[in-house]
Amino acid sequence: RMVLMNGEFIPREQAKVDIEDRGYQFGDGIYEVIRVYNGKMFMAKEHLERLSASSEKIGIAISYSISELTTLLEELIAKNSLSTGIIYMQFTRGVSPRNHSYPTEAVTPTFVAYTKMLNRPLDNLENGVSTITVEDIRWSRCDIKSLNLLGNVMAKQKATEADCYESIQYRELSVTEGSSSNIWIVNGEKIQTHEANQFILNGITRQKIIQLCGENGIEVEEKAFSIEDLIDADEVFLSSTTSEVTPIVSVNNVPVKEGKVGEMTKKLQNLFVEAIISECGQ
Ligand code: PLP
Repeated sequence: RMVLMNGEFIPREQAKVDIEDRGYQFGDGIYEVIRVYNGKMFMAKEHLERLSASSEKIGIAISYSISELTTLLEELIAKNSLSTGIIYMQFTRGVSPRNHSYPTEAVTPTFVAYTKMLNRPLDNLENGVSTITVEDIRWSRCDIKSLNLLGNVMAKQKATEADCYESIQYRELSVTEGSSSNIWIVNGEKIQTHEANQFILNGITRQKIIQLCGENGIEVEEKAFSIEDLIDADEVFLSSTTSEVTPIVSVNNVPVKEGKVGEMTKKLQNLFVEAIISECGQ
């Protein structure tokens, strides 16, 4: 298995990180996960633009252009003969003696990317998943796709311990997002999700769903909703790169409606699959 490290393709076993890498010591870096279907990246441009936006927000200078990164990632897919899976990629601020402030000397960011085989989650897509609600204890710059994921990790662990797939986080009275997904409710013909501000990551899947709704006359409201709204909703689903449009059939052990996958969720799943096929083929 080949990985990409600082622009070079090397065997996985040879990829090593310095103990004074700021990603390792501070979580000082940013990342992306890109879906690969049929050997082709889905929404690569949007992911790489978000990566670039995240890097600017924390002052990491990435020396590769989006088109250079795209070429490198395509080579990585080819070298590993990846058909269906993901690319994980990250940039850290680089290696420097430990000091909280950004290094004053120029340091080269550490860049790593690798592929992983991962099938589409067909069982979850068809039958839905269970969730719990947990308090959102994270910082107020969740718009940055930062390597600092301890809040998300702790939220996901609570879900795992409750035999659930995902934790739905809330901040005071508002549902923000999942530990690694965006959360949506459906009422009648209208769908709703938290506005894209500093309290959520503006998911690429979220953006695609909003675009598809626009093209298909489905009303979307980007506005926070409460846990009550969540529990009373006709349908609930989550979205992410790896999970696509996954129905949520229970929250805190209470079924959403009758615990069945809703019609609007199915409709959005179909639109999403069409979008995948039109970009990546069948
Ligand atoms: N919110 C968080 C906290 C995430 O970690 C993720 C992705 O894993 C998402 C939302 C969904 O984003 P995307 O659709 O770009 O994968």
